[in-house]
Amino acid sequence: MTQTVSINNRQRLQLSALNLPKRLLLGPGPSNAHPDVLAAMSTAPLGHLDPDFLKVMDEIQALLRYVWQTENPTTIAISGTGSAAMEATIANSVQPGDVVLVGVTGYFGNRLVDMAGRYGADVKTISKPWGQVFSLDELKTALETHRPAILALVHAETSTGARQPLEGVSALCQEFGTLLLIDTVTSLGGVPIHLDEWGVDLAYSCSQKGLGCSPGASPFTMSPRAWDRLQQRSGKVPNWYLDSTLLMKYWGQERVYHHTAPVNLYYGLREALRILADEGVENSWARHQKNAEYLWEQLEAIGLKMHVDRANRLPTLTTVCVPEGVDAKAISGKLLQEHNIEVGNGLGELAGKVWRVGLMGYNSKPESVDRLVAALKQVL
Ligand code: PLP
Repeated sequence: MTQTVSINNRQRLQLSALNLPKRLLLGPGPSNAHPDVLAAMSTAPLGHLDPDFLKVMDEIQALLRYVWQTENPTTIAISGTGSAAMEATIANSVQPGDVVLVGVTGYFGNRLVDMAGRYGADVKTISKPWGQVFSLDELKTALETHRPAILALVHAETSTGARQPLEGVSALCQEFGTLLLIDTVTSLGGVPIHLDEWGVDLAYSCSQKGLGCSPGASPFTMSPRAWDRLQQRSGKVPNWYLDSTLLMKYWGQERVYHHTAPVNLYYGLREALRILADEGVENSWARHQKNAEYLWEQLEAIGLKMHVDRANRLPTLTTVCVPEGVDAKAISGKLLQEHNIEVGNGLGELAGKVWRVGLMGYNSKPESVDRLVAALKQVL
């Protein structure tokens, strides 16, 4: 039913209850949340210091350690999107004047450069064309040249669809006392990650992609080495909301109020992680790989090409080359309007050159591929 609502003396709005189309979200994120996650999020909220809610927070911490394959005690969800968790890693590790070396292979590497600069870092960059990744030799040379306090790399670059291999990187970092910081926003839950085995010191992610939740509660973790370095910093962390020493007073034993947690989002995250643990994280990685391979095969069958070499291709996000003479935005617009399917357009250097197709979390299944390919055949 539509009602007329007066919002001031001059303006009246015709409003009905929220009623939005149901879309299949096959873009760079968010992906569709699992129905059980949506159900969990509609549970009546408890107080943010209620013992039963604190138990939910403990479960989130344990489950995040599992999906990230880490024992880090400081493993929590930041109340905010992936960018907030990204900023938390920077805020808690960078001191003014620190050399921070950022590997830029796309849009999100540039965001790290911007953030580290805002915290007073002496930022150095190495870059590759969008769609490529660094070799160990390239990283070694850059570490020798810059001897940074922190090396920041994007594991899964959502703007290009490439996966940066991380095996062996921390051994190079250790030579220079460098902390290794990685972005796992488009990899957590869908791409193999072994934080402890890889010697990662700081990592962050999001809830709305491989975990199959809504956006707003974002995983963040620090190794004991990064935590020790934080204890030795001369001044306070220059961001009150993201200061992990304050956040750990809420997430840890003390249970001191820090901010009012977005209780229902934490319910959703806890349910998403429970579903993932029930499937088994290795099984989830294998499912993402299998469905991505099916997608690549089906797209090739209708004459489309992928932008990234197969060896470096992410299973969660595929960049599909736009054929000559085709208007990329017109096609993605038609997929949305005529077929209720969202795919992403190219970002930055790849704008107009690729579509970005995500198969993440709950959406990583053959039915998503079949629906997309059938629709693409019609609109192309
Ligand atoms: N890093 C990467 C690799 C991303 O893909 C994104 C978002 O898609 C972010 C960081 C920022 O996350 P958010 O948009 O949730 O703030």
